[in-house]
Amino acid sequence: MTPQAKIAILQKLIQIPSVNDHEAAVADYLTTLFAPYPQATVEHLTYAPGRDNLVVTIGQATGPRLGLSGHMDVVAPGDTTAWHHDPFGGEIVGDQLFGRGASDMKSGLAALVVTMLEFLEAGTPLPGSVRLLATVGEETGEYGAAQLTDAGYADGLAGLVIAEPSGLDNVVYTARGVIDYKVVSTGKSSHSASPENGINAIDNLMKFYNAVGPLMAQHTKTDPVLGGLLHNVDLISGGEQINSIPAHAELMANMRTIPAYPNQVIYDELEGLVAQLNQQPGVDLALSYSYPEEAIPGDPNAPLVQLAKQVSDQVCGHDTHVVGSGGANDGAEFLRAQGDFASIEIGPGNDTSHQADEYVDLPEYLQAVEVYEQLIPAFLRQAAYR
Ligand SMILES: [Zn+2]
Repeated sequence: MTPQAKIAILQKLIQIPSVNDHEAAVADYLTTLFAPYPQATVEHLTYAPGRDNLVVTIGQATGPRLGLSGHMDVVAPGDTTAWHHDPFGGEIVGDQLFGRGASDMKSGLAALVVTMLEFLEAGTPLPGSVRLLATVGEETGEYGAAQLTDAGYADGLAGLVIAEPSGLDNVVYTARGVIDYKVVSTGKSSHSASPENGINAIDNLMKFYNAVGPLMAQHTKTDPVLGGLLHNVDLISGGEQINSIPAHAELMANMRTIPAYPNQVIYDELEGLVAQLNQQPGVDLALSYSYPEEAIPGDPNAPLVQLAKQVSDQVCGHDTHVVGSGGANDGAEFLRAQGDFASIEIGPGNDTSHQADEYVDLPEYLQAVEVYEQLIPAFLRQAAYR
């Protein structure tokens, strides 16, 4: 495939505005690219109308299987007046291609797809198989990856490469988890001249607020690359008007976890605190979570991590850093699959993800294809011998 043809695939992906929805249009387009190759097994798994996950498997049934993953959704463009390029135009200026998803992560997804197409086109013999797991809804809860995992598509993998925008000079082998939680305090309104007739929801919410900080601060283990557990209350609201005892108050907090503290440990403590406070007269607190994700543990010396570093060093001529990530990714869901495997992130992109004028450097995009084309057969050969 010519560089122009590889870039055209990326451009076409950017031009599909799959903002937390419409991933089926992306899946359908990618399916057309695999249509000339009947030896590729293409499956669509519908999450919701217009939202299909895509699974493409190539290679031979015997031998190890490497998973490749990318999400097909993008975040909203935000304030479009802050953009100097059409967010869904795929405009190229010099060596840069602009658009929502150029970095996070349609360039990574396109590079994985191009790699597989080139294997098919060249008839590259693979000592095992490669499975693309293209997901819906990564940016809003990783439920596409959860669905694929529950359906068994990630079972028995020997390793997983996620093409998130680490930049090719980084291999991410471990990542923080996330717990977003909400506490709703329900009281009873009354005139503030007679507070004895009401229950102050704000006062009761503050009991939780004052206790949770010290409770979470007791987690003093630190991860050598990720650091310690992070807990921040980021949203708080309550009350109706100045002369009424508030019947409602709520807060939301964001936690960034580390592998030393599985999410269940935190859930048990938060739920224990709420149950304890609810024993007090008048206190009525309710706790809920939105799309929590486990931290991803990892070994910097795992064969997949070290091989990815070697290949990227060699292809790109730089020193690839083996690092941790502060954000969760689809890997947290896929690791629930049967079998024990390493999951890494390495992909083209930069820190313009989720920002105006998001772009990818096209030479890096094309280099990513080279990295994957060397990494995949090398990993399968190694894994076949283990
Ligand atoms: Zn992403």
